[in-house]
Amino acid sequence: MAETSLFAINYNFYEGLFTQNGRLVFRRFIFSISVAFSLILTAFPSDQSTNPDILRERHTGIMGTDLHLSVIGTNKAYLDQIIDDAITEMKRIEDLMTDWRPSPLTTLNQSVGLGPHKVPNELTVIISHGIEMSNLTNGAFDITYAGIGQLWTFKHKMTTLPDPKTIRDALLFVNYKAIALNLSNSTVSLPSAFKIGLGGIAKGYAIDQAMTILIKNDIKHAIINAGGDMKILGKKFNNPWEIAIKHPRDQNKIMARLKLSNVAVVTSGDYERFFEINRQRYHHIIDPRTGYPSNGCLSATVVAPEAEFADALATGLCVMKPKDGLNLVESLKQVDAILVGMDGIVRASTGLKKSLR
Ligand code: ADP
Ligand code: MG
Repeated sequence: MAETSLFAINYNFYEGLFTQNGRLVFRRFIFSISVAFSLILTAFPSDQSTNPDILRERHTGIMGTDLHLSVIGTNKAYLDQIIDDAITEMKRIEDLMTDWRPSPLTTLNQSVGLGPHKVPNELTVIISHGIEMSNLTNGAFDITYAGIGQLWTFKHKMTTLPDPKTIRDALLFVNYKAIALNLSNSTVSLPSAFKIGLGGIAKGYAIDQAMTILIKNDIKHAIINAGGDMKILGKKFNNPWEIAIKHPRDQNKIMARLKLSNVAVVTSGDYERFFEINRQRYHHIIDPRTGYPSNGCLSATVVAPEAEFADALATGLCVMKPKDGLNLVESLKQVDAILVGMDGIVRASTGLKKSLR
């Protein structure tokens, strides 16, 4: 584009000279100079912003799920570098918060009952956010679910259920109110046998952090998608990014098409990690009140400014009944949700009703 307009300017200049002196030789001379000048400028594109936008994408894995980044900009090598940086940041957070292998969180869980335990500040902060989400959802979201979560495994299919008495006993060690935090000293105290799991919130946090890296590096348009949990920035070549929300029981059925910018959209549900015994489904979101997989909603999709908040809320909404969940969502500013109840009925909060199909 820039070359074309530059050429047009030179050509006009040549026309002007022609009308002034009318000499053919001079006209040709000026024309040649103009063309050469245009070619030189074409060979040295100076300003990145005048280049056409390109989309760079990357598929990889993170936190036990697929990670897909789509980033728009003008310089391929630069975009690839920023994508690398965003992925490195997500891996750093995974290393800090995983409970699948040694990590600061695993060490904390091994130090319960021993008084205040020093952890990296970021861990204290996300734990404090977890507690806030428990207060907001009246305990439906509870990072101490992990005290009971260890009785369930969804990595391989269980063939027998945990013993009900073992579940009842373990329920004594599920209660977010037992966490004592000191944010200024960055310490966490947990009574013996308690355990923290950040599986319902850490992915959202990692998405937020990765998006911050993109924004700090001048990216204006991007999507970060970790296993269907997304944060969306700007537009896709002048159009809003469009996200299709599928029905949890029929992946061919699109419940809603959302046109979104500068927001997070996160879905939790019973359809990704589960096993069945006697045709009964047991999935990875645990109701902290019963110790069994939740039966509030089949799925919950939350649209909110931050992915960390949306991630935790979506998990909590799966535990809550749709009516209670919708009441909660309606009471929150800049937050919307689509909930599919156990009856398969799709319900949306006010801001998303129009997007339902
Ligand atoms: P996904 O990780 O598949 O996106 P979620 O965000 O809904 O799904 O998180 C589910 C994970 O959250 C579980 O695998 C577990 O680690 C954790 N979790 C399960 N039940 C609860 C709960 N009631 N409160 C907080 N975290 C939970
Ligand atoms: Mg979640």
